[in-house]
This record gives sequence, C-alpha cells and structure tokens, in this order.
Amino acid sequence: MINLRRCAATALGAVLLVGGLQWRSPVSAGSTTPVPCTGVGAIAAPTPSTLRYDIDLDLNTNTGGVRGRSVIRFTPDLDITELVVRLWPNGGARDATAPSMNVGSAEVNAAVTTFSQPDPTTLVIAVPSGIASGREVKLALDWTLNVPGPRDDRVSRNSASLRYGSFLPVLPWEPGVGWNRTPPTTGQAEASMTPTADWRVSVHPSTAMQIVATGSDDGHNTWTATGTRDWAMVLGTFKHVSTPIIVDGHNVAVTVAVQQGLVDDPTAYLNRVVKALKLFSTLYGRYPWSSYTVVVTPGLKGGIEYPTLVMQGPGSIGRTTPHEVAHQWFYSLVGNDQGRDPWMDEGLASWAEMRSEGTLSTFQSKVIPADATARLGAPMTYWDAHRSSYYRGVYVQAVHALAALGPAASVDCALQHYVVANAYGVATPARLISALTDQFPNTATVLARYGIKSA
Ligand SMILES: [Zn+2]
Repeated sequence: MINLRRCAATALGAVLLVGGLQWRSPVSAGSTTPVPCTGVGAIAAPTPSTLRYDIDLDLNTNTGGVRGRSVIRFTPDLDITELVVRLWPNGGARDATAPSMNVGSAEVNAAVTTFSQPDPTTLVIAVPSGIASGREVKLALDWTLNVPGPRDDRVSRNSASLRYGSFLPVLPWEPGVGWNRTPPTTGQAEASMTPTADWRVSVHPSTAMQIVATGSDDGHNTWTATGTRDWAMVLGTFKHVSTPIIVDGHNVAVTVAVQQGLVDDPTAYLNRVVKALKLFSTLYGRYPWSSYTVVVTPGLKGGIEYPTLVMQGPGSIGRTTPHEVAHQWFYSLVGNDQGRDPWMDEGLASWAEMRSEGTLSTFQSKVIPADATARLGAPMTYWDAHRSSYYRGVYVQAVHALAALGPAASVDCALQHYVVANAYGVATPARLISALTDQFPNTATVLARYGIKSA
C-alpha cells in the first residue's frame, strides 16, 4: 500500500540482451558497470493449490452489505486440531465508517460446529478429533459484512462505487509453520499473511454496475483465480481501456478502469502499468498471471494492492502506479507476514518503485526519523505507535539499506533469485537475507545497521 503521493522522475534503465545473458544497467546512482544475473530459474505458471475457496456473495448495492457463504477446502501440511480464520474487516481503525464482519455459523466436514473469537479479527474452530497432514478438510462459513459508507480504505461505498478488499474470511496458514495470529494494525496498512489459493466467487444478484475483480470472469458474474493470496472486487461505472501484452512469452491482459466523472486518463495509467510490468518482469522474473487490472475510484488516497487487482485513488498515476505493480512480486507472488515484517513487502516494493522511477537520490535525501532509525525490522504494532515515522522507517529506510549493499543491478539480481526461490510461498527475513548474501557476503552486517536481525 502507499498513501503518500509525490511527483516522480522518469529515468528508466536499459535492459540489454547480450549473448543470451541478461545484462542490466543500473538506472540510478551507483555503478554503471553492467552486471549479469546468472543461474536464475524461471517463474512457473500458477498451479492448483491445497486451499480452495468457493464463495457466493449476495450483494446489496444500495447498502453495500454482503451476505456470504464460503466453502473452503484445505489440505494442511501439518497435523492440526483447530482451524483459524481471519476476519480482516474487523481490523483497522474502529470508527463509524469502519466495516464489520460477523460469522453466523460454521460447519466442518458438513457438521455444524461451535467457534470462538478471541479477538475481532480471529475466529478459532476447534477440531478435537484432529486433521492429519495431507487430509482435506471442508469448512463452510455463513457470514455478513456491513459497510457503513465512504471510507478512505479498502472497504467503502459511496453513491458511485463500492470497494471490497480484504473482505473475505481467509485461512492464515503458513506452510510448514502453522496458523498465523499476527495482530491487526490500526493504521492504513496490511497485517495479513495468507497462502496462495484458488478461488471461485459468484456475485448475486445481477447488477447494472460494472464489476472488476481478481482473476477472470465467465461473463455471468463468476470469477476464478489460481495461485492468489486474496480476492477483491470493485463495483462502479467505469471508462476503461485494455491491452494485451506479452511478457517473456506469456500473455497478460492489462486493464485500467476509472470511475466515470473522474478526470484521470485511463490510457495514461495503462501506459505506466505496461512499462512497469515489463520492467519488473525483466528485473524480478516474469509476471505469471494472465491479467492485471487497476481500478480508480473516488475517496481513496494512493493505492492498495491485491493479487492481479489494484485499487488506486484519483491523481495517483505517479509513483503509486509502479509501486503497486511491484507488489505483484513482493506480497502477491512472494508472500510474507505483513504484520510482523512489513519491510519485506513495502520495502521491496519501494525498491522496485525506485528502480522504475530512477529516484534513488530522492529516497537517499530523506532523513530517517530518530524513532525509526535502525528499526527497519519492526512490526506493525511498533509503527502503530509511531505512525508518523512509518513511511520513512519502512519504505525509505529499506531502500537505504538495500542501496548500502552494493550496485543496484546486483540487488535486483539477488531479488530475482529470491522471487524465483520463494514464488507462491511465504518468505521470511532469513530467506531474503540468504538470497542477498549470495550476492553480497556482508549482507547480515550491513542490514544489522538498519535493524534487521539475521537469526
Ligand atoms: Zn505498498
């Protein structure tokens, strides 16, 4: 996410193909010597997941309210005795405009079951008989979502448009680790951790409003997506443009939808998205999904990233646009615990944004506040109490830290190795440090100066 907008420089680096090797010239200050990125594999297309959501949404476009039924099929890779569900609409700052979610009933393998809610964002369903690793469990939830009105955030309704992001009950399973219970943030940021999943979402009843959403639709208000960590949608009346592009032999349909009445030019956004998708596919591995959509609606500052779908606010065409594209690699393709390690998604997206915009000197000119210095690795619970320092402490300080490692092109190469090694998974700081150390042996020492612990 990014909610601070600035003008952006536009110097892009050149990408050369020399003798079949990919060479990159740094786009900003630092060494201008081309650096080869060798030994890096390809990013595979998404494949069916061990987590599948089948969801029916009964939507009232007048009130914004949703009655939902989610049928979730999940095959854990560890033995478990409970199911944990996160209800993210109940997080964030709580005021009169905040959405709220309530789960009315739950069934495990078709048997009605009880559940507890230790905090508003966490539902726990005990399964005393246990579920063995490798065995599928079927969880059905009936739930409602209340949307009070306009809000500068991911769930909002006004007279022209409806935004629904982070609005579905999700399983916070970290493969090989277990359930993630990271507390929510009260700021306008993300604290979720979800594994990649497959989705079928149907919206009822039919509406005259247009719907843009994660994945692809069948023309009858049903969407499917494969290998995405979440599913989001926006309703409105849009002027939109679309173009097919090819990245590394792979077709991607790029669409920009702008709410009617806004002065934002969808073609201008489209051009910036296409440029960023192509650049980042070269720097960090190809974009593996078949669509990327930006939807611009009123009452939103900056942008909010979802897999294959980004919500942006009016006037956010600047650095927000490549920043949100970058999140498709750093959050969407390679996941992380956004509440515990926000620097891993926001910091790396800021690095990519800097590479796209040629703004290293701009980042480096920013002073890190005293309460953020050497705290790059701090969790959202810390930044909630130091909100004014969050942007510089995480977004800016991460760029400082990565730039301190060495040439920017070598950082990009390390990040491409990191993406390929962790695609569709959930990465940890140790995995990122490992990839960086392969390029820069002193990574642990350098990052420690910024507050990143290696252990
Ligand atoms: Zn961001």
